[in-house]
Amino acid sequence: MNTDIATLHTETVEGDGFRIALHRRGEDTHVKQRRPVMYGVYSEVETESMLLRFNLNNEIVRAEGRGEDWPSDLEYLKRTAGNDWVYYSTGGYAGSWETLTDASFPAPVSFRIPEPYSEVYKMVGEYYLPNLPYETNTILGDDPFASPGVRRVLNGWHDEIEKIRNAADDLPGRFRRFLDEAAQNSPKRLQAKAETLFGVCGGRTSVLPPDARHADYDVIPLNISQGCLYKCRFCSVKNDMPFSGHTRAQIRQQVEALASFYGNDLYNYNSIFLGDHDALNADEEHILFAVSEAMKGLRLRRSFMHGVNVFIFASVASLMSKQDAFFEKLDTCGAKVHINVGLESADQETLDYIGKPLVSAEVVRCFERMQSLNGRHPNVECTGNFVFDDALPAGHIPAFLELAEGPVTASPDKGTLYLSPLCISKPSPGTLFEFKQLKTFSMLPTYLYIIQRI
Ligand code: SF4
Repeated sequence: MNTDIATLHTETVEGDGFRIALHRRGEDTHVKQRRPVMYGVYSEVETESMLLRFNLNNEIVRAEGRGEDWPSDLEYLKRTAGNDWVYYSTGGYAGSWETLTDASFPAPVSFRIPEPYSEVYKMVGEYYLPNLPYETNTILGDDPFASPGVRRVLNGWHDEIEKIRNAADDLPGRFRRFLDEAAQNSPKRLQAKAETLFGVCGGRTSVLPPDARHADYDVIPLNISQGCLYKCRFCSVKNDMPFSGHTRAQIRQQVEALASFYGNDLYNYNSIFLGDHDALNADEEHILFAVSEAMKGLRLRRSFMHGVNVFIFASVASLMSKQDAFFEKLDTCGAKVHINVGLESADQETLDYIGKPLVSAEVVRCFERMQSLNGRHPNVECTGNFVFDDALPAGHIPAFLELAEGPVTASPDKGTLYLSPLCISKPSPGTLFEFKQLKTFSMLPTYLYIIQRI
């Protein structure tokens, strides 16, 4: 079926107050741009009040309002495979404000950096901030779901499709078939489909690695293990399961079920998330087996999107337990492999405070190995997560800076450090100010981690 899709041409029809375009081509590479970007092959319905976009299964995936009540023509709604609607906001492109403090200045000096910089980019490394419809750790953004325009589109997109479908019975067959299927994929049916995905994976993916932002979180979840090693006290995404790996048969079965679940829209995916919370702790051969099965079964190399990405979480223990030869194999597996390691803190008092059963010297050694791997393997990137909160012990930030200010052995845009707000204390403007200060000192890209689920 995918090869058929690859040869389909874009076709357009216009009717009374609407336009339908089938099989439009969006970007084929994930890019960071200050304008709304659509990836992959999709179909589109435009009316006077909405712009709606559908994937290759004719399920809605994007929506924008037309009219005065829509917050900004640069902003849009995206629906995930888990059936969450996420509002992508720009935070404005008016530039950003910096403040310098120095003992030699009589007072802090503030100045504005004009475009192309934006506050959102500086904070999360992307030009868009994903506003999520559930409680998470973000300390940015507001509540776009309260906007009348956003509510109108979310509550009305399906009626809009039904309206066109009922009025336009003289459309050519392929446009009618598209409208029939788009209408059948109602909000209720989309929710049921998401539940099917969770069933295939053995549960909903409660958190994606922050690096998944490089693929706009469009990742196919393939669970090769469950549970984690530490069960840290601070962690809100952990489950009760002790760590265990899936068998090869289970992995193969899951790949088959995922291929059938994504159906025609598989053509739009080039990225997988190997779950769940510490999949790098699985056997080396199992990890390589899963990558290879996914490449074949999910046809990742034949995707419309260029390149292949593998995202995976790791812990200090799992990263340190792997042999160098394993990373060499990952480097040549045909994908860009993004390994996100939960380091949390290099300060012992902080590790004890958050209930992470690690010794700070182990965190430092792991950080050093990550730098070394980043320097040696062009297709492997290790990134690190650290906690961030006003309530943490005083030693946390100095210990973080001791690592982040150190010499960078790999390319300086590799090895991002993500600070994950814990929200133990209510974030204040000072929290963001402190984050910006840390960014200034860090030799590695440093961003806030927004916990997003599938
Ligand atoms: S932070 Fe990671 S290792 Fe700790 S409990 Fe959460 S998932 Fe497990």
